[in-house]
Amino acid sequence: MNQIKTGRFIMELRKSKNLTQKQLAEKLNISDKTVSKWECGKGMPEISLMLPLCEVLEINVNELLSGERISENNYHRKAEENMMNLIKEKQENKRKLIIAIIIALMGVSMLVVSIMIVNYETGLSDFSKIFLIIFGVIMTILGIVISVIIDRETGVFECPECHNCFTPDIKSYIMGAHTPTKRKLKCPECGATKYCKHKLVK
Ligand SMILES: [Zn+2]
Repeated sequence: MNQIKTGRFIMELRKSKNLTQKQLAEKLNISDKTVSKWECGKGMPEISLMLPLCEVLEINVNELLSGERISENNYHRKAEENMMNLIKEKQENKRKLIIAIIIALMGVSMLVVSIMIVNYETGLSDFSKIFLIIFGVIMTILGIVISVIIDRETGVFECPECHNCFTPDIKSYIMGAHTPTKRKLKCPECGATKYCKHKLVK
């Protein structure tokens, strides 16, 4: 899926209907910032907005995802392409999250192994013991940092208030309380601080 192409397509259609970004946003009950984000290619409309948006623009979802008008002949091919892209993105993101968890676990297990060696290996010098523990701690931190970076960048977080999808900055991501699938974050769109669902695709 090409966000920039879809964005340009939305803008063209909006203008051909003589709508401002604000007027289009009002029809969809969202903010004009969101419309502007789509048109700049910085985000795709989230799934629940796709049908209402298509209705206003008088196109179908397939055309929205492709970023162009589709003739009858091409319709099925394009629909399949779009569907496969969505599935592929989801699978790739799932794989990334699993890798993030493995990296974090590997870091922690390095520390556990270091502590075990220090405890049971009597012949080690103090220097080696300290070195091993420091090594274990560094690997743990490294593992967690890498997994946090991967997890934050994979998929998007959805605001439960305005349904805006966003990637939080590192600081608020780390500070945010979380459950396995949700994280407490401030929505850049409406400013609400809520538990935002981590979604694999928009
Ligand atoms: Zn929001």
